[in-house]
Amino acid sequence: MHEMSICQGLMRQVEQIARDNRARQVDSIVLSIGPLAGIEPQLLKQAFTVARMGTVAEKAELEIRTGPIVVECRSCGASGEAEVNRLLCPSCGDWQVNLKQGDELLLLRLEVSDVSES
Ligand SMILES: [Zn+2]
Repeated sequence: MHEMSICQGLMRQVEQIARDNRARQVDSIVLSIGPLAGIEPQLLKQAFTVARMGTVAEKAELEIRTGPIVVECRSCGASGEAEVNRLLCPSCGDWQVNLKQGDELLLLRLEVSDVSES
């Protein structure tokens, strides 16, 4: 299950941020996953319940948001949202488009607590 390796990469990122902020606990993690990222949010959540064990994020809530697909047209230069199965220019309908957004996995927000002052 490749969601597990994605999750482990994510946990490394989360632990690094927690360390940088001198936080001993992570309360919540908000992710943005593009519809074309090839990640199943449900599987990622399952993987997270395993990956978080023994880490600073052991009690953290994972929230997953799905962002839109945004394309930019190579013919007319317009950009806008497109459907998963219809990657066409929203303006002229050309299929020669560049993907601007939609295949990303982004760590949007991290809430931490138990921050040490020293
Ligand atoms: Zn176009």
